[in-house]
Amino acid sequence: MADFLETLEERRVVPDVRPGDIRAALPVSPPERAEPFDRIFADFKETIVPGMTHWQHPGWFAYFPANSSPPSILGEMLTATLAAQCMSWQTSPAATELEQVVMEWMRQMLGLPKTFTGVIQDTASTATLVALLCARERITAHSCGERGAFRKDLPTLRVYASDQAHSSIPKGVKLAGYGLENLRLIESDTRFAMRADVLDAAIREDLKEGRRPACVVATVGTTSSGAIDPVPDIARLCREHGLWFHVDAAWAGSAAICPEHRSLLLGVDQADSFLFNPHKWLLTNFDCTAYFVKDIETLLHTFTTSPEYLRTAVDDEVVNYRDWQIQLGRRFRALKLWFVIRSYGVDGLREMIRRHVALANEFAEWLRGEAGFELLAPVSLALVCFRYRPDGMDPDSEDVNKLNEKLLAEVNASGEVHLTHTKLCGKYCIRMCVGQLYTERRHVERAWELLKASARELI
Ligand SMILES: *Cc1c(COP(=O)(O)O)cnc(C)c1O
Repeated sequence: MADFLETLEERRVVPDVRPGDIRAALPVSPPERAEPFDRIFADFKETIVPGMTHWQHPGWFAYFPANSSPPSILGEMLTATLAAQCMSWQTSPAATELEQVVMEWMRQMLGLPKTFTGVIQDTASTATLVALLCARERITAHSCGERGAFRKDLPTLRVYASDQAHSSIPKGVKLAGYGLENLRLIESDTRFAMRADVLDAAIREDLKEGRRPACVVATVGTTSSGAIDPVPDIARLCREHGLWFHVDAAWAGSAAICPEHRSLLLGVDQADSFLFNPHKWLLTNFDCTAYFVKDIETLLHTFTTSPEYLRTAVDDEVVNYRDWQIQLGRRFRALKLWFVIRSYGVDGLREMIRRHVALANEFAEWLRGEAGFELLAPVSLALVCFRYRPDGMDPDSEDVNKLNEKLLAEVNASGEVHLTHTKLCGKYCIRMCVGQLYTERRHVERAWELLKASARELI
């Protein structure tokens, strides 16, 4: 593992394999007899590792990061060694109590009010589903959970999010029984943030038509461009109409540990629930989502079941996290987070965020100074959205889109760096997101060189 991390830079970021290659190199049936570990490990090195996409590579600029760190890896190994099921206090007291401590640390690190209590969920998608279920239960006084969500006597429940919201929101809306038709995607402005005036009108229209607005999901740091919805305005509307207000800050939330980025969370104190992913940008390997919630009574009412075989003598005195989540079983995730926070200190983590933000801004400066390149959205923290459009090319033409698709493929084919794309207002857009522990200035420079060289070649 140490060797791998030390030599990671020599590997291709994305493997040069075709669909089916790896499967074809592996036996179709399981071994009847035990195999020596040497052979298993040799196969791992020869077949599996070269077929992996290396998210920890310093040339990783794709999607959002899923960064990790040595203390996180050690924490994860110990979690696997203890291999405890941490569903109840009784089934591992230290796991429950360490999680309470670490989530309180996290609350302080982000400057969230004391009215929030944190719990670790596996992913942002799950945490959002939890919020959507709580919203549904609160607005119907738990009648969905008790009598079913598909009843004639229930008004149609509505959920609102911006047209830039992450795919986990429509997914959660489908799964929580609202129905995709009842998710209203609110138009975003020229900076790709939700328009609060359009949200206001949508809520009023639904009320007039006899539908029941239930929940708004705002995004702090959208996946496409890092846009930040106007949380204080949305909070006011939610309060006015009694809606559950959930804030998804999966990637950007980590930056709030820096005082200079604290304003990202302006108005979040008014939310009912808030999430961010230490498994994206806080050196804690996947999976680890921090979910903060105020109305614990609704949460527990929504999720608690109490079968005889799970009852313990201390249930009245303790937190049983099985009642704070969808699944029963629970991994000991707080351990790796504890290792990370202690190993780097909050200040060390701030330094990492600052380094990434500075590198992204420097990259954006290079881009602004280079003829033919243009930004397609305001730089957001460590995310830069841009494209190449040589002089004379129509900004709205499909040719510019095709050109950038080719440019991205060329740059990624190098194997030295990896970037991904999105579309903003129909424009193909290359995303450069800095966020790896091992990324240095020279790696960002290399990405820029490759982009410029490939752009010149294409023209
Ligand atoms: C990454 C992301 C998610 C999904 O995160 P998971 O933890 O993989 O479910 C949700 N919302 C936003 C804004 C994201 O960037």
